[in-house]
Amino acid sequence: MGSNQPEGYKKKSKKFFKDHNIEAWDKVEIKKGDSLFQGIILPRNQFADDGYVEIKLSNGYNIGLKVEDLEEINVIGKNPPMIVEFEGMKIPKDKSKPNVTLLGTGGTIASRLDYVTGGVIPAFKPRELYAAVPELAEICNLDTKIIFKIFSEDMKPNNWLKIAKEVTKLSNSGIDGIVVTHGTDTLGYSTAAVSFLVQNLHVPVVFVGSQRSSDRPSSDAAINLIHGTNLAAKGDIAEVVLCMLGSSSHTYGLIHRGTRVRKMHSSVRHAFRTIGDIPLGKIENEKIVWFKKDIHHKSAVDLELETICSKKIESKCALVYIHPGMSTEIIDFYIDKGYKGIVLAGTGLGHAPKHMFNSIQRAISEGISVVMALQTLWGFTGMKVYSNGRELLDLGVIPADMIPETAFAKLCWVLGNYQDENKIKQVMQTNIAGEILPYEDIRGYQIQQGLTEKEY
Ligand code: GLU
Repeated sequence: MGSNQPEGYKKKSKKFFKDHNIEAWDKVEIKKGDSLFQGIILPRNQFADDGYVEIKLSNGYNIGLKVEDLEEINVIGKNPPMIVEFEGMKIPKDKSKPNVTLLGTGGTIASRLDYVTGGVIPAFKPRELYAAVPELAEICNLDTKIIFKIFSEDMKPNNWLKIAKEVTKLSNSGIDGIVVTHGTDTLGYSTAAVSFLVQNLHVPVVFVGSQRSSDRPSSDAAINLIHGTNLAAKGDIAEVVLCMLGSSSHTYGLIHRGTRVRKMHSSVRHAFRTIGDIPLGKIENEKIVWFKKDIHHKSAVDLELETICSKKIESKCALVYIHPGMSTEIIDFYIDKGYKGIVLAGTGLGHAPKHMFNSIQRAISEGISVVMALQTLWGFTGMKVYSNGRELLDLGVIPADMIPETAFAKLCWVLGNYQDENKIKQVMQTNIAGEILPYEDIRGYQIQQGLTEKEY
């Protein structure tokens, strides 16, 4: 085997490459049954199963094929690594097309396997993106800017503020739409935070991620980018939303409001769900269907009102998941460390163990805002129903009818901008960006697994 052996493959695949004299980035033609595939041999994620070859088809999609099933494979061209191949690519601007800017923050979307290390690295200069997802060139003139290259578990409130500042600048610049690529793990926190931090948006701000990196077979990166970019370019909405695959059919994307969306599955591609409601709409290629009526339409935006961004965010906030037998020292710790706010993800209607009440009272008396959100995710707080809830209310706990992550992002924003105790309580309980629902649309709960009634 030459030195240009495709990275990340195991025994069976390696033997196959050796037998057929195939190197990384070779252009190959493969015959399998009645099908003929042409594509480029990709490096592979080292944890993937043995006995497959992975190729990038000319349409930008990746597929994995079992070596045993391949009747014939021929090298039809030798390719240098992608990054070199695309180096000289010119991207023409088309005045008739909308202008969209894509802000990159990291995560696996728009990442590729590093040719040298075999690891996934974030990489999207415009030419790399266009090369990986050629459809984007049809949709719009796309500019890209990398703000960070981090995985989303490493995001901090100051990262949310930085994204919000970039979004604000672009919204005021006369651009048509914004796409933000982001790791999926904490995507819902960021969409919520930016929804609060940025006011008077002029354009769609569409967050997208992918559950499988661009170089893996059946990656969702391309389809989410296509849907997200179409929505940013042409969608009549001026809100922060998340757009990712909506069902196991992998054909359409669902459009979720930024303050109501949550990652509900660790691995499937249709991992995101709107909680407490139905999604705002859906998108298939460029066809957008709105399900909800209370949407801030781009066509109704008053452009006289500048988009503004909050200047500060409070990082010393904690999100505490209540559980049976939990130690009250958790609350004491946050008090002693000078935290300014604590969101409790309470049980049931908004409860916490009685033995924690002293610490909760101490926190409130030391000026810490204590907010109650619900670990049930669905439903509203009902803190007057049981004595536990009533006592917590008497201590000064603020009920917040929103998902815990949104309550956390909102508290970080509120405490960065307001000092007065009553004002903090009032803003926490006022609907700012669709986080507090007037009522729960039960259809949302019933269809949250991505099935229609017919499919049950
Ligand atoms: N855990 C990483 C993140 O959330 C990678 C997974 C992904 O991008 O979805 O950024």
